[in-house]
Amino acid sequence: MTTSPRCSRTPARTPRCALVGAGPGDPELLTLKALRTLRRATLLLVDDLVSDAVLALALRGRRQPPRVVHVGKRGGCRSTPQAFIERLMVSAALAGERVVRLKGGDPFVFGRGGEEAEALRAQGIAVEVINGITSGLAASTALGVPWTHRDHAHGVMLVTGHAREGAAGPDWAVLGAAAAQGLTLIIYMGMARLTAVQAGLLRALPGHTPAAVVQAAGTAQARACDCTLGTLVTAVQAHGLGSPAIVVIGDVLQARAALATPERHVA
Ligand code: SAH
Repeated sequence: MTTSPRCSRTPARTPRCALVGAGPGDPELLTLKALRTLRRATLLLVDDLVSDAVLALALRGRRQPPRVVHVGKRGGCRSTPQAFIERLMVSAALAGERVVRLKGGDPFVFGRGGEEAEALRAQGIAVEVINGITSGLAASTALGVPWTHRDHAHGVMLVTGHAREGAAGPDWAVLGAAAAQGLTLIIYMGMARLTAVQAGLLRALPGHTPAAVVQAAGTAQARACDCTLGTLVTAVQAHGLGSPAIVVIGDVLQARAALATPERHVA
């Protein structure tokens, strides 16, 4: 009589990695799922846009704190090459670590989360993506303006102002034409190319189109200014706003009467 062999070893855990959205900065905006996952991590790879408060919450009270690797530009360091980050995630996950990649906002909104998920899955690593509140949405609440409104805007476009090296950037005139049809334009990474963005949009939209800029949305340092498309660049300079910031263009900005004040400090 043959008996089936008994295996005393527990099967090896499937290597896995979580891409976690840290939200815009306020730790109270983290999801419960993000926090639970963070608190189980043995290796944390942290972006430069992740707030200190979120990181502190992730580490608070841990008897065995995870290894934390900052992979951003903080402290004047050059940013870590993307290929290095992906190699580190893959090797640590294959070695059995509970790897968490903590990203500002949402991992799948301009966060290279897609590239990282592909690199991990190509190595047989299970990927879990946990949403965070993207800064483009945090900018909406910082201004007190909804991005959709039945009287002003029937949709939203999330667009990057920064094109990959060698790649064509967005066609701002086309996006401007869509904004003219009632879509709110939310521009990430637009500050470095603001003059070109403004010029492109002015090919399709009138200079009096409402615009706003929110720096550090969703943090205690949030600052915002409102202006028009025609005064966008000069308003940003006058108010000394810089990255990280969200630029918003669209008629929906009319929905907030209080936006008539030239500058707001949103704490
Ligand atoms: N995954 C992130 C976006 C990363 S791209 C998210 O979902 O928010 C980086 C750009 O995001 C910055 O250049 C800036 O345009 C925007 N950004 C990130 N954090 C921000 C914040 N707190 N306030 C305003 N803009 C922010």
